[in-house]
Amino acid sequence: MHQTTESKITVQKVKNSRIAQVDFKNLTFGNIFSDHMFECDYINGSWQNPTIKPYGPLTISPGAKVFHYAQAVFEGMKAYKDDNGNVFLFRPELNHERINKSSVRMAMPEFPKDIFFEALETLLQLDQEWIKPGMGNSLYIRPFSIATQVGVSASPSDQYKFMILLSPAQAYYTGDVKVVIAQKYSRSANGGVGFAKAAGNYGAQFFPTNLAKAEGFQQVIWTDANEHKYLEEAGTMNVFFRINDTLLTAPTGDRILDGITRKSVIDLAKRSHIKVEERPVLVSEVVDAAKNGTLKEIFGAGTAAVISPVSAFSYANVTYNIPSNNHEYALKLKKELMDIQHNVAEDTFGWRH
Ligand code: PMP
Repeated sequence: MHQTTESKITVQKVKNSRIAQVDFKNLTFGNIFSDHMFECDYINGSWQNPTIKPYGPLTISPGAKVFHYAQAVFEGMKAYKDDNGNVFLFRPELNHERINKSSVRMAMPEFPKDIFFEALETLLQLDQEWIKPGMGNSLYIRPFSIATQVGVSASPSDQYKFMILLSPAQAYYTGDVKVVIAQKYSRSANGGVGFAKAAGNYGAQFFPTNLAKAEGFQQVIWTDANEHKYLEEAGTMNVFFRINDTLLTAPTGDRILDGITRKSVIDLAKRSHIKVEERPVLVSEVVDAAKNGTLKEIFGAGTAAVISPVSAFSYANVTYNIPSNNHEYALKLKKELMDIQHNVAEDTFGWRH
């Protein structure tokens, strides 16, 4: 279901930019938005009126289906600026493919590739001052789609709104990341929506994550819903385990988000002749490796934090520390990835856009 539209994007520019009010040295991730946003409505079976306008509130009926049945999907991507002022996206066609996969799973219409890219490029052109050069600085991009048909009958909406917001982001140090391996709650199941960036997947993780936080851990590593035997992924990151000199990560499928950072880390690791196994990873093998000293690293991989080394994990109320000087692979792969994203290293994979 690839709907296209003839219409060009209408652009309404802000009268006065808000950029002077923003302290770019003290940004909290994701709570300031740039001057412009993109909006496009799906009505009568096609995407219509693609518009870029000043960032601001929407008027939506409280009866809109998104509020009742969570027909909502989103993406997370970043734009980077090099020291010459050139702006790059990182593998954005994968975000476009993924939001469409998420949409199909949520019975929502796919969004056309031509408008997606025209919207991104026009927005980034208009708000380019919001992208600061420098390693780790970026403009976080949040495309999303929501059901706007009014009616509380439990059936798919026939109207949707697709939007793109931009939020300046700074290099951030995630600190000491400690994680809990899930034993009771689960994030996704076979045949479910775990592979989709469906909004409800995230809301459902907040409660168990709060329980972990109360115990002094920042994140949960989810396990399979059947037996809690296999390690899957974290809240917004795929997870890698280094045992001896091999990297292990769960295979993608129904339950796991097909992360773009994950995919890129695997390619970078293989380029350096690091052995990578994409296969079900047993909790027991990681616990055993922690006990016998062969577990060298755990790290998360995702767009927001790039790569976050994990310093400890807890399983069955026992905490296992990972030697903190031992983030060798995590730091190496993070640097290689960021150098490509920021146009510091040659883009041998053709990932920059
Ligand atoms: N897993 C989940 C559940 C996520 O939300 C994300 C963030 N999109 C990731 C993994 C990492 O994906 P990516 O590298 O594409 O950001």
